[in-house]
Order: sequence, then C-alpha cells, then structure tokens
Amino acid sequence: MKAGKNTVVSLDYTLKNNAGHVMDSSEGHEPLVYLHGAGFLIPGLEREIEGMEKGQAKTVVVQPEHAYGIRQDELLYVVSKSGFQGEEEMVVGMQVELDTDNGPALAFISKIDGDNVTLDLNHPLAGEVLTFDIKIADIREATADEIDHGHVHGPHGHHH
Ligand code: ZN
Repeated sequence: MKAGKNTVVSLDYTLKNNAGHVMDSSEGHEPLVYLHGAGFLIPGLEREIEGMEKGQAKTVVVQPEHAYGIRQDELLYVVSKSGFQGEEEMVVGMQVELDTDNGPALAFISKIDGDNVTLDLNHPLAGEVLTFDIKIADIREATADEIDHGHVHGPHGHHH
C-alpha cells in the first residue's frame, strides 16, 4: 500500500531547522499517526510522502513557503513592558498569549529594550528551511468513520 488520500500513515521523523538543530522528533516516542491528505502535515512534507511505502525512508527539505511561511516584519509589535502587569519576569524567548482582534494568539518576546518589549507573532519556524528525516513505519486504509471525521481513530489516534 502506498501513502495517499484516505490512508493512515505512521511516520517516524526528525525535524531540523536551518542551523541543523533538532526541533522535533518521534525518536523515543510512538510514530506520528495521521490521516494523509487531511492537512495535518505542512504541504511540502505531505506532498513528498505521497506514494511512499511502508519501510521507505527519505530526507525531505521544505522551503519556508511550503512550511510555516516567510517571516513578516508586520508581525513584530513593540509594546510597553508596563502593559504586562502581574506577569512573571519577562525574558527574551518567553512565550506570551495575547488577546487580538482575531482571538488569542501566541507570541514570543524577541527583544527587550528598557520598557520596550518586541513581540514576535511569526510562527517560531517561519522563515526556516526545514529538513525532515522520515521513515514510513506503517500504512493502513482509513476507516469510513475516520474519513468522515477527518482524523485518525484507534490506539494512537484521538477522538473529539
Ligand atoms: Zn472521530
């Protein structure tokens, strides 16, 4: 069986960023189990998995446009530190949750300069060329329920 629409793929993976640092990995855990073609993976990765078979491995390099997008300066906001009363001490790299017009959003503190705090609403992996070392651990056909619900059921799935 080949990975394709309406198959459930178990994927072992290691994700590295531009600098070669491991950002995420299934090593030491269960593989990632997902419904192929349902948009769970970034498009540039899912496309490369299409047609692979159980046991096959490859390295996939995904450009930012097909991953988490390009970094946008418009998503940097400078705010006043005193606007964050009651928060724990702010440090660069800290994640904060913001209330925006579009609902809650996560931001990272990218710079602190006196009372000026720069918040970065870009995805942490935006602008990164991502390298995935992947191996197909298993493939099975999705059940009618899974296709209907758009997600995986079963021991390694979850249900909502
Ligand atoms: Zn379901």
